[in-house]
Amino acid sequence: EAFRNIGAREERVKAYLTLDEEGARETARKLDDKLASGEARGLLFGLPMGVKDNIVTEGLRTTCASQFLSNYDPIYDATVMTKLRQADAVTLGKMNMDEFAMGGSNENSSFYPVRNPWDLERVPGGSSGGSAAAVAAGEAYFTIGSDTGGSIRQPASYCGVVGLKPTYGLVSRFGLVAFASSLDQIGPITKNVQDSAYVMQAIAGYDAKDSTSAKVDVPDYLSALTGDIKGLRIAVPKEYLGEGVDAQVKDIIMSALSKLESLGAVWEEVSLPHTEYAVATYYLLASSEASSNLARFDGVRYGVRADNPDNLIDLYHQSRSQGFGPEVKRRIMLGTYALSSGYYDAYYLKAQKVRTLIKQDFDRVFENYDVVIGPTAPTTAFKLGSQVEDPLTMYLNDILTIPVSLAGVPAISINAGFADGLPVGLQIIGRAFDESTVLRTAHAFE
Ligand code: GLN
Repeated sequence: EAFRNIGAREERVKAYLTLDEEGARETARKLDDKLASGEARGLLFGLPMGVKDNIVTEGLRTTCASQFLSNYDPIYDATVMTKLRQADAVTLGKMNMDEFAMGGSNENSSFYPVRNPWDLERVPGGSSGGSAAAVAAGEAYFTIGSDTGGSIRQPASYCGVVGLKPTYGLVSRFGLVAFASSLDQIGPITKNVQDSAYVMQAIAGYDAKDSTSAKVDVPDYLSALTGDIKGLRIAVPKEYLGEGVDAQVKDIIMSALSKLESLGAVWEEVSLPHTEYAVATYYLLASSEASSNLARFDGVRYGVRADNPDNLIDLYHQSRSQGFGPEVKRRIMLGTYALSSGYYDAYYLKAQKVRTLIKQDFDRVFENYDVVIGPTAPTTAFKLGSQVEDPLTMYLNDILTIPVSLAGVPAISINAGFADGLPVGLQIIGRAFDESTVLRTAHAFE
C-alpha cells in the first residue's frame, strides 16, 4: 500500500530523496521466510518506514539533502537503523529534509522542496518535512526524524501527525550526521500516539557508541497508555500564548485544555520568564556547534570533491563553496564568528549561561506540574516561498519548540484541530526521561 500511495502521490509531495523499492522487497521476502519458519516477530514486524536522510544507512545513499553528499553511500548503519532492522521494520527509502537539518520549511533542501499534503501550495515544515509529509500522505507507515530545535515537532504540527522529540540522550545519536551535538535527538513521526510508543520502545536505550547516551532503563511505554489522566497537573506558560501566536491557534489550544480538564486533569497558568531569549540563544549555540561539526566536510573524506584545485587549501575552499547551500554557509559564518577569540565570551559563553536559565525555568515548573502544554508552532503551515527571503521570520517559527530543546526535555506534538483546513499541533512537554507521562497525556487526549 505504501508503494501504491508513493506512486500516486510522490510526484506532488516530494517527500523522498531516495527510494529503495528493491531493498524493501528483499526485506519483505526475508520477513516472509521468518514468518514461515515460526521465528519470533519483531516489535515493528513488516511496517514500512522512511528514514530522514541525515541518518546513515549502510549501502543506501545518505545525502542530508546536500549536494556535498549527493554521492555518499555509508558503509555502516546508525544505531537506530540497527535497532529498527532488528525490530523487523522495512525501509522504503530516505526522506527529504532541509540541508543538514537547517531550516523550518524544507525549502533549504538542495534537491527539491517538499509540499504539504493538506495544501500543496504550503510548506510541510522542517527540517524533517519529508518525514512528516510522508506519514500524512500515507507514503510510509511511520518515519524517523531528527529534532535539534523543533525539526520533528513543527513539521508534525504542520502536517497533522504525531512527532516525538525524546529526552536528550535517550536515543543514540551514533550515525546521525551531527548538526548541533548538544541538541540533536532522533525520534518517531507516526499517525497516532500508540505507534509513537511502539517505535520509541524499539529505538530508545543506552548505546556505548554515543558518548552522550544516557544509562537509563527504558520503561514500557505501551503500558503507560492507560487513558487515565485524572489528577494530572498541567502548566500552561503564558509566554506560549502571547503575542505572535495566531488567534485561531490559541482558540484550538484553549479547547484542547478544556478537553483535558474534562478528562480529569487540572491546568494553571505559569511563567517561563526566559522564553524570549531562547531563539537568540539557540541560533548562537546551534550555529557554533554546526560550524565545528561541518568542518569535517572538506572534499577529502566525504562526498563530492571539487575538480582541478590549485592546491590543498583551494580544494577545501572550492569543495565547500560548491557543496554547501546558502543557509548552511550562513550558519557556519555565524558560528565561526561567535566562537572566534574576542567574541567567545560575549556570545558563546553568554548563550551557554542563558541556556542554563532556560533549563532552570522548566525545572522550577516541573516541581509542581507533571507536564507543560502549549501550541507547537505559533501559526499553521505557511505558503511556499513566503519566508525564504527573510531568515529571521523563518527562525521565529520555532520559538515554542526551541526552549524545550535547550532544556533537553521530551515533547510530543499531536494534532489538536484545524484552522482554515490546516492542522494545528498541541505540544506536550515532560520532565527529562518521563516520556511515559507525555505519551499517556497525548494518548488520553487523542
Ligand atoms: N528550524 C530550526 C533550525 O533551522 C530547527 C532545525 C532542527 O531542529 N533541525 O535550526
